Amino acid sequence: MEIEVVEGDITEQAVDVVVNAANSSLLGGGGVDGAIHRRGGPEVLAACRALRAAHLGGGLGVGQAVATTAGRLPAKWVVHTVGPVHSATEDRSELLAACHRNSLLVAAELGAETVAFPAISTGVYRWPLESAAEIALAAVREPVGPVRLVRFVLFGAAAHRAFADRL
Ligand code: ADP
Repeated sequence: MEIEVVEGDITEQAVDVVVNAANSSLLGGGGVDGAIHRRGGPEVLAACRALRAAHLGGGLGVGQAVATTAGRLPAKWVVHTVGPVHSATEDRSELLAACHRNSLLVAAELGAETVAFPAISTGVYRWPLESAAEIALAAVREPVGPVRLVRFVLFGAAAHRAFADRL
């Protein structure tokens, strides 16, 4: 399996799966979540609402992942995962790793071969970029099902450098 690091906007990626750094509500937010819902259009939100009305009534737990349509995005599916909020007193690294592994498992179940990840938890959830890069890159190292390419799509030069340095 190939791991790639690029600088760019994840909503423009023509991959099978785009991973969204969502929040537990699945009903949209800021950052990459807002961008995915804006560009993906109302079908993505409708699919999230349907999940909430069905088996995810309490929302999606931290570290878990679930798929929806990608709506108008060039991708085929969005896999929504909820990153942990960074804590200075508690080590939540396993949860951040779980976001990546569970997203890949969901992607593999869909038959996805190409998966794009943003830098989960490094925005509003304040995870330091260098640490997030280390955890994320380690978490995707094991091949999963048909996935042959994992591409980290980083917003801005600093995020790109953090991931590229550790690849
Ligand atoms: P979280 O709540 O998990 O911290 P954020 O969306 O606030 O999620 O930030 C996660 C990362 O996504 C940040 O590094 C942010 O710069 C980046 N980001 C924001 N918009 C985009 C986008 N369109 N494409 C790729 N990355 C993005």
